[in-house]
Amino acid sequence: MKYDSVGDLNHSHFTLELRPTSKCNYNCYYCTDLHINTNSIYSFNLDDISKLIISIKNNTKMPVHVYICGGEPTLYNKLDELIIHISKHMTSPDYITVQTNLSKPMIWLKRFCSKIKDGLIDIKINCSYHNTQKVKLYQYVKKCVYLKKQKILGVISAAYNQQIDVKEHYDIMVRLLGEEHCEIVPLINASVDQDPNKGNDSDNDIDIINAKLQDLEKMGHFFRPTIPCTTHSGERKMITRNHLWLTRENNFHGSKCSVSKYKLYVDWDGRCFSCFNYQYANAPPVFHISMTSKFDDYFSNIKCINCPFTTCFFDIEYEKVAQYIEVSVLPIDRKYNTDELRPAY
Ligand code: SF4
Repeated sequence: MKYDSVGDLNHSHFTLELRPTSKCNYNCYYCTDLHINTNSIYSFNLDDISKLIISIKNNTKMPVHVYICGGEPTLYNKLDELIIHISKHMTSPDYITVQTNLSKPMIWLKRFCSKIKDGLIDIKINCSYHNTQKVKLYQYVKKCVYLKKQKILGVISAAYNQQIDVKEHYDIMVRLLGEEHCEIVPLINASVDQDPNKGNDSDNDIDIINAKLQDLEKMGHFFRPTIPCTTHSGERKMITRNHLWLTRENNFHGSKCSVSKYKLYVDWDGRCFSCFNYQYANAPPVFHISMTSKFDDYFSNIKCINCPFTTCFFDIEYEKVAQYIEVSVLPIDRKYNTDELRPAY
């Protein structure tokens, strides 16, 4: 680890990241691991979800942010039921975010919104814009305008990629929907494979976006200096995720990481993990979502992790402190996220 510490211990919410399905109807080259269409569907038991949220709230005393992603979460056919159920346990400032590729037709979207909207405290639909797939900008923006009118539009992430420059489409979206709803997101090592030589060749995108685009700071939170760090000489400064990715310094192997205190990943088969990468490693879950009697023990005594990984993707903002101790590397293999290698629960 290049710094003595990176990230923050100050977070407003505990995040419960639910991945109700690993399936996706798109096949973006930079997301070869995050969607797996062969996995079975595990129907989440709503009572287990209730117990999980109640235990998190009671023990951590933090508000909860439920982040529903995938795969493509709108392919989970009980998504509306799941959201309505979760919302029953939420009080302000709890909130729900759904991250979707917005590929479902307008008629589906209207039906979905009319089902989930009433009685919900706070929900935002974040939209990923993948221009390498069969997406028509006009149709896409029309759906975003509808979500904005419903007051549930979150942020549209235009995924920058080597094949088709998204900047022109991003500019149109900013004009039609407002800057606050649009951002460009860089891609780096989007493969969960920890060996950059074995990835899906998407790790050059970060270099290309930095070489081609000016004023990146205006285009998205990944380019803003929001991550505190301490250098070896004791200097405190703020850096960007973009900087850490660009310099390939997003490796915190061996550091003491606090992500577990603020986040739990619930995977498509009900296994629960404390870091995104554990979903792809041959490591046991902290528990399965059906093991409800374990929840209170776990959440009343959450321990930091000694990071066993060599690439950190999405949770850089949670504090990591250098320890200079030996930690064996846990290799990542996307097959651990499939029916193929995961033993039955
Ligand atoms: S990979 Fe996981 S454990 Fe390691 S620093 Fe990142 S969030 Fe923490």
